[in-house]
Amino acid sequence: MTNKNINILIVEDSYTQALRLQIILEEQGYQIALARNGVEGLNLLHEDFFPIVITDWIMPEMDGFEFCQAVRSREFPGYVYIILLTTKDSRNDIIAGLEAGADDYLIKPVDKAELAARLNTARRIIELEYSLRKRNEEIARMSVTDPLTKAYNRRYLNDHLPAEIKRAFRHDHPLSIIICDIDHFKKVNDTYGHQAGDRVLEEFARCIRGLVRESDWMVRYGGEEFLIVLPETDLDNAHKAAERYRVSVSETPIPTGTAEIKITASFGVASCLSSCEEKKKECTMEALIEAADQCLYRAKNEGRNRSFAVLLE
Ligand code: GH3
Ligand code: MG
Ligand code: MG
Ligand code: MG
Repeated sequence: MTNKNINILIVEDSYTQALRLQIILEEQGYQIALARNGVEGLNLLHEDFFPIVITDWIMPEMDGFEFCQAVRSREFPGYVYIILLTTKDSRNDIIAGLEAGADDYLIKPVDKAELAARLNTARRIIELEYSLRKRNEEIARMSVTDPLTKAYNRRYLNDHLPAEIKRAFRHDHPLSIIICDIDHFKKVNDTYGHQAGDRVLEEFARCIRGLVRESDWMVRYGGEEFLIVLPETDLDNAHKAAERYRVSVSETPIPTGTAEIKITASFGVASCLSSCEEKKKECTMEALIEAADQCLYRAKNEGRNRSFAVLLE
C-alpha cells in the first residue's frame, strides 16, 4: 500500500491549521478530505471510508472527545485509526482522548517529520488489521463452502434457509427450492474412476451456477445431490427453472482426461406461498425439503432425467 491509496480525514475547525496539515500530507502523497467539526467528520466517514482520521480537540458542535466516542460506537468497513491534535499543556485532554478511543496524539504546531513517523505507525496498524480482516472473511467463506464444487454447504443452508422462509412470509412473497440428484452417478465412478467423478460434480455445479439468478443460491446437499433456493419465485417459475437446468445438464457433456461423460439429473421442486397465518407455521425448512425430496423420488422412480413439483399448502 502506498500513501496514495490512503485517504486521511482531517477534522479541524481552524481553516488555516487544516490547510497547513493538508499541504504537508499531500506532499507526502496522501489523499485528504476536510471536515470542520465532529458531526461533519462522522458524515464524511459514513459517506466515504477513511482509515486514518486526524482530529482537533476543541471544536464547535462536536468536539474531539465526543467524536472519538462516536466513531468507536459505530460500524465502519474497517478500523479507523484516530490521531488527536492537542496543545502542549493538555495532558488531561490527551488521557481523556485516548480513553475515548483515540490511538495516538500529536502536539500543535505539528512537526512534519513527527507527523510522517506517526502516520507510518498508523499505516502498519491498518495494514495489519486489513490483512486480518481479509483472512477472517476468507475463513468465514471457507467454513460455509464445499471445496470441490464451490457451492454452499449444509451449515450455510441450516443458517440461512429458515431466515429466507421467514422473510418470504413477512413480505408475502413466494419461495421455492429445487433438489437435484445426478442419475446413476455411481456408474460414473465405477466406469471412469473417482477423479473423473469429482470432475463431473464440479462441472455439474458450474453448469447450474451459470443458470441461477443472482438472488438464488446453491448448496451441495449430499454427495451428488444439490439444493437450489429461489427467493421470490413461485412454483411455476421454479419448475421452469428446474427444467432449464435439467435440459442444460443433459445437453452438456463433461470432458475429462479419458472421455466425454454424458450425464442427466432428476429434479424435485417445492414452493410455499401463503398469506394464511396457520399455513405459515407449517412451511418449515424441513417440510419444504421433504416435499421436494418426494418429487425427486418420484422423478427417479418414473425413469430419471425429469422433474416434478409440488406446492406446500
Ligand atoms: P441414482 O440415479 O438413483 O441417484 O443413482 P446413483 O448411482 O447416482 O446414486 P447412489 O446413491 O447409488 O450413488 C451415489 C454415488 O456418489 C456414491 C458415492 O460414492 C458417490 N459420491 C458421493 N460423493 C462423491 C464425491 O465427492 N466424489 C465422487 N467421485 N463420488 C462421490
Ligand atoms: Mg479547534
Ligand atoms: Mg444419484
Ligand atoms: Mg444421491
